[in-house]
Amino acid sequence: MKVLRSIAELRGWSRALRAAGGNTLGLVPTMGALHAGHASLIDAARGSCTHVAVTLFVNPTQFGPEEDFARYPRVFEADCALAERAGADMLFAPAVEELYPHGAGSTFVEVPGLSERLDGASRPGHFRGVATVVAKLLIAGEPDRAFFGQKDAAQVAVLRRMSADLHLGTEIVVCPIVRDTDGLALSSRNAYLTPGERRKALLLHRTIRRIEALAAEGERHSATLLAAAHACFASEPEVRADYIALVDGETLEPVETAAPGTLFAVAAWVGTTRLIDNTIIG
Ligand code: AMP
Repeated sequence: MKVLRSIAELRGWSRALRAAGGNTLGLVPTMGALHAGHASLIDAARGSCTHVAVTLFVNPTQFGPEEDFARYPRVFEADCALAERAGADMLFAPAVEELYPHGAGSTFVEVPGLSERLDGASRPGHFRGVATVVAKLLIAGEPDRAFFGQKDAAQVAVLRRMSADLHLGTEIVVCPIVRDTDGLALSSRNAYLTPGERRKALLLHRTIRRIEALAAEGERHSATLLAAAHACFASEPEVRADYIALVDGETLEPVETAAPGTLFAVAAWVGTTRLIDNTIIG
């Protein structure tokens, strides 16, 4: 597996693939500390493209001033090994100065509205940072498809809109949430949890299963479903809800009645760690 560091190398590598003819490129953007969730995206890319590039970049512009940018896990050697094992042909790992040559605030891509909902409401500027860095990667890498996890459902909505509005020509592919055997959604931030916190964090998945069960029984009223979710959270006072929401999966606007495609999403603080999880109502 090749490791590239500069935008010029990324662009050159991608264009050489295209010039050779018959190739397709799948791009998997990540912040590293790779786990089986990331591997599933690489696997999906492998399945539908002749070549797969993984990007590894802890993007400063998507972190708020009080957030975990400095302590975010950085494990380059292990990430290279996992990406290679999962089938990546190339790993793009640029320095901050390479992606932001005129400083981190020089040019932004904004998706107003969507960017202020769900995680955007509690993390101002987060989705502006995400949209900016992903736009940079798609413009430089020119992939046919880019692969993202349903785990970050609001991010998916923002990036679909951004890619369509900027006519980037990359298909956005969304892959299912990969969970640990006990149901906890895999996340690089799970590494922050103490064993006790990890047990408490299972509340997120329990709540999701409760809402899925109610929806399967035919319950459609948002107020009833949200009340049930809040009741689950009341059973575990040490887990503090950030948001509990039933929204349209595309616009992220609250819905009164759940319908196929409605997104049930939660974010919660377990100690000092913020976790997210979601499900699409069937
Ligand atoms: P991150 O490195 O956390 O920015 O995540 C990079 C990509 O992996 C994003 O598209 C995430 O949605 C996706 N991802 C993270 N965790 C999971 C998971 N448990 N299952 C599926 N995809 C995931």
